[in-house]
Amino acid sequence: MNLSRYFDHAATTPVDPRVVREMLPFFSEEFGNPHSLHDFGRRARAAVDLARERVATLIGAEDPSQITFTSGATESNNWVIRAFGQGAFSPFEHSAVREPAISCGYFCLDNTELTLQAPPQRVRLLSVMSANNEIGSQWDPGEFRDSAEFLHSDMTQSVGKVPTDVDGLDFASFSAHKFYGPKGVGALYSAGSSPDPLLQGGDQENGARSGTVNVSAIVGMGVAAAIAHDQMPEDIRHATRLRAALLDQLQLLTDWQENGGANAMPHILSLSFDGVEGETLVIEADQAGYAISSGAACSSQKSEPSHVLRALKMPESWRRGTIRISFGRSNDEESSVSLAKRLMRTVEKLRTMT
Ligand code: PMP
Repeated sequence: MNLSRYFDHAATTPVDPRVVREMLPFFSEEFGNPHSLHDFGRRARAAVDLARERVATLIGAEDPSQITFTSGATESNNWVIRAFGQGAFSPFEHSAVREPAISCGYFCLDNTELTLQAPPQRVRLLSVMSANNEIGSQWDPGEFRDSAEFLHSDMTQSVGKVPTDVDGLDFASFSAHKFYGPKGVGALYSAGSSPDPLLQGGDQENGARSGTVNVSAIVGMGVAAAIAHDQMPEDIRHATRLRAALLDQLQLLTDWQENGGANAMPHILSLSFDGVEGETLVIEADQAGYAISSGAACSSQKSEPSHVLRALKMPESWRRGTIRISFGRSNDEESSVSLAKRLMRTVEKLRTMT
């Protein structure tokens, strides 16, 4: 596998070898249950406490106790949305907010292109993501502070990627595997009390989330958070450079557009090519070893058009020709330029065939 051709970092990232190294002892000699009183337990507990501090630092939380570890952003989102049971959500939300919100009867905010309209009256819980997983557009959820009693943000795509601060929010969800940590672990930030528990049982995590915590994964999330914190300026410079190199090549092509708007995340590039099938581009690229996506990985099983592109009122022939390229540490300029050239050739070929 050639990692320099993996351009799907918004779907998931490879676990950093430094993260793996620190996780390994927690599968064997450091196997204690952090809730046990003996030395084995205390050692595991100290490791979980350190991870909680590192994660709190990454998102600017005042106190590590505001962090509750979960199985990932899907759980964190479901937990908050279900606990409040009423409110509103942005039309750009990931399905892990959108689906529970719809089933609980929340209403969807209006938008004009990428600009969100505040709810007509104050709601109990408002959920506005910080960055969209399909197009990379960013919002400041804090702008909606006065529109809701409680403000939640799904920050899964921005935490560890761009400076992200929970100041002014009541709740924030995120996941380790988007910033070079392991899958199946994430967190919910709660400024004050946590929402009523989704999982009840042994009262772990201060009663907020029962179940023996996944120590090795949490340790991994902590290390990944510390690395992301230190390396962020460098990671941003790298993604910005590769994005520019790729876009530069595409200037030779006509009838395409960038979808994320002026303040898109540096590492997520959503492109639409009029009159071609995005999925065909993804398959063609895959044959040459490039991993790109035609949308959110989690919704690629569904054949319906993306609700995000629908909210943008994109015409059908452009919507169908949409792909997502997401940059990360393993990519380089050469692979970005060669991906652009390959995409151009494929688009030109497909257009001559229709
Ligand atoms: N929210 C957003 C914005 C995401 O991009 C994702 C992952 N695609 C999730 C939530 C769900 O995260 P997880 O798979 O870790 O539960």
